[in-house]
Amino acid sequence: MAVKQFKAESQKLLDLMINSIYTNKEIFLRELISNASDAVDKLRFKGLTDESVGISSDDFAITLIPDKEARTLRILDNGIGMTKDELETNLGTIARSGSLDFKTNNTSEEIDIIGQFGVGFYSSFMVASRVTVVSRAFGSDEAWKWESEGTEGYSIEEAEKSEVGTEITLYIKENTENENYDRFTDVYGIQTLVKKYSDYIRYPIKMLMTHTHPSPKPDDAGDDWTPEYEEHSEWETLNSMIPIWKRKKSETSDEEYNEFYKNNFYDYNDPARVITASGEGAVNYNAILFIPSNTPYDFYTKEFKKGLALYSSGVMIMEKCEDLLPDYFNFVRGVVDSSDISLNISRELLQQNHQVRLMKKNIEKKIKNELLSMLKNDREKYETFWKSFGRVLKFGIYSDYGVHKDVLSDLLVFYSAKQEKLITLDEYVSAMPEAQKYIYFASAESVERAAKLPNTEAVLDHDFDVLLCTEDVDEFCLQVLRQFKEKSFKNVGGGNLELESEAEKEAAKAAAEENKGLLSAIKDALGDKVKEVRTSSVLKDHPVALSSEGPVSVEMEKVLKNMPGNDGVKSEKILEINENHSVFAALKQTAADGNSEKLALYASILYEQARLIEGLTVEDPIAYAKAVCSLMK
Ligand code: ADP
Repeated sequence: MAVKQFKAESQKLLDLMINSIYTNKEIFLRELISNASDAVDKLRFKGLTDESVGISSDDFAITLIPDKEARTLRILDNGIGMTKDELETNLGTIARSGSLDFKTNNTSEEIDIIGQFGVGFYSSFMVASRVTVVSRAFGSDEAWKWESEGTEGYSIEEAEKSEVGTEITLYIKENTENENYDRFTDVYGIQTLVKKYSDYIRYPIKMLMTHTHPSPKPDDAGDDWTPEYEEHSEWETLNSMIPIWKRKKSETSDEEYNEFYKNNFYDYNDPARVITASGEGAVNYNAILFIPSNTPYDFYTKEFKKGLALYSSGVMIMEKCEDLLPDYFNFVRGVVDSSDISLNISRELLQQNHQVRLMKKNIEKKIKNELLSMLKNDREKYETFWKSFGRVLKFGIYSDYGVHKDVLSDLLVFYSAKQEKLITLDEYVSAMPEAQKYIYFASAESVERAAKLPNTEAVLDHDFDVLLCTEDVDEFCLQVLRQFKEKSFKNVGGGNLELESEAEKEAAKAAAEENKGLLSAIKDALGDKVKEVRTSSVLKDHPVALSSEGPVSVEMEKVLKNMPGNDGVKSEKILEINENHSVFAALKQTAADGNSEKLALYASILYEQARLIEGLTVEDPIAYAKAVCSLMK
C-alpha cells in the first residue's frame, strides 16, 4: 500500500507534535472529543430534515475505550463520518497553517503555536506513536481506514464498518522520564480529563467503568467474616452535558467558564472577561459572552469573521451569527441560545428577525457595561484589552459617519503626555485648567515622537495636556468625534493653537505685519510646497514647525499615501517660523542684505527640516544635501 506524504506545512506541524516539549499533552483528548461532537452535530442537524439519518436524538454518543493491555485508546462517534476524499483532505493537510512560519526547534514559540491554533487532530501525535482513523460517511456504504505513524506520511485503504461514524485508535507512547502516558489508557485518567475539558459537550461521552463491590454480609456471618469482592461493569456517561449558559453564574466557577471558552474558541489564554446575559418576555434567551484577553491570530486578516454561535433550545443552528454583534464589538466570542429562534431559520430571515435585533441590542449594552466596569475597576486589564482591540473601537467611531460615537466615546483611552499613561477623555477634560479651551492631540508614529513635536512642546509649555496618538485611525476617529463634553479637539499640527494671550496675539499680529516682506519672500521661494509662511510666538526651542490647515492633516497625508488610490491627497502645509529663534534673526539679516539667493537656500533647508521633524521624508534629498554643503563651504 502506497504511503503518501503530508503537505509541507502539515509535516512541520506534525514534527512539532511528535517532538513536542509542550507539557499540556492531555489536550489531545479534548480536541478529538470536540471533533467527534462537531461530527455528531452535523449528522443530527441533517437528521432534522432527512429521515434517512435514522438515528434518534437520544442515541447520539461519543464512546471512549481505553485498553491498558493493548496500550490503546479508542474514540468512537456516530457522527457524519468522512469519505475517502475527506479523510485525505482533512487529515492530510492543515488548512490554516499556510500563512505560518513554523518554528520546529523546541522553543517557547512552539508552545504558542500549539496554544494559538488548538491544533486539532494532529495533537494525537503528542501521545500516540501510531494513529488509525476508520470512518464511514453518512450516505456511503463503504468505509476507509487512514493510518499514520506521523513522520513517514499516511496510507489509506478500504475497511469494514457497519455503522456511519468515525473510530479513532491511538497507539499510546511508552512512558518516558518526563511523561506518564499510562494515564491515557486508564479509565480514571480519562474520566478526569473528560470532566476537566469536555464536561459541556452536548452528547453523552460514554465509557465502560468497572467497579468492585463488597459482597453483602449474610445475617449469620460471624465476626471473622470478610467480604468477597465482586466486579461489576457498566457504561457510564462521564460529562454533565448541561450547557454552561443555562447554569447560574453563581454556581459556575471561573475555571469552568475559562475551560469552556478555551475549548470552544481556540484560545490558549483565559478570557479577560466573562459576561452572562439572559432575557425573558419579548425575547427569551441565555447568552454567555467572552472578551478575549489577546488578539486572535487571524483577527486583522480578512479570514476573521465576527459572530456568536446561535443555538435554538440547545441545538446549534449557526456557528457565527453576525447579526448578533455590532462590528465594533466583533472581538467578542460566545453563545446565544434562544427558544424563540426556529431551527430552520434562514440567514436572510435572521437578519430581519425582531428577536435577533432585541438580543443584539441587549448584548451590546451588556458588553459596553462590562468594558466600562473593566475601565473603572481594573485599569491594568483594560489596558491589555485596549492594546488588542482599541483599534476596533476607534474604527467603530469613525465608521457609519459617527452614528455610534455616543456608545463608544466613553471607552476611548489615549496616551497623556502630561500623565504619561493612558487616560480617558473624561479624565482629560476633568484635568483641564480653566483657561484651556480645547482637547489637544498630536499624531506621530510613536508616543516619543509625538511628545517631541515642536507644537506639542508649545502646548505642554502652557501646562495644557496633549493626547499622543500613534495609530492610523486616531485622527480620523477624533475628526468624526469632533467634541467631547462640549470641548472641541484640536490637532497641535493644525495651526492656530490659540495659546497666546490677547497681548501676545496683538504682538504676533504686529510681528507678522512687520515681517510681511520676509515671509512672502520665503513663501515665494518655496512655491506650492506650502500654503503659507507664518511667524510663531509659541514655539520654544525649535526654529520651525510644519502645521496644516483644512481637513487633511500632515499625519493623515502619511496614512492616506500608504493606501492605494490616494496618492494625490496632500495636506495644506503651513511653515511656522519661531520669531524668537536666532535663525529668524539670520533670515531677517539675509533679507536686509538683499541676498535673495541665500534666502531661498535657507528657506528650502528650513522647510525640509520641518518635514523631518514631522516624520515626513525630505522631498528632494539631493538638493537638500547640496544646500547644506553649500552653507558649510
Ligand atoms: P478542526 O477541527 O479545527 O477543523 P482538525 O485537524 O481537528 O481541525 O480536523 C480537521 C477536519 O477533519 C475537521 O474539520 C473535520 O472536517 C474532520 N474531522 C475530524 N475528526 C472528525 C470526526 N470524528 N468525524 C468527522 N470528521 C472529522
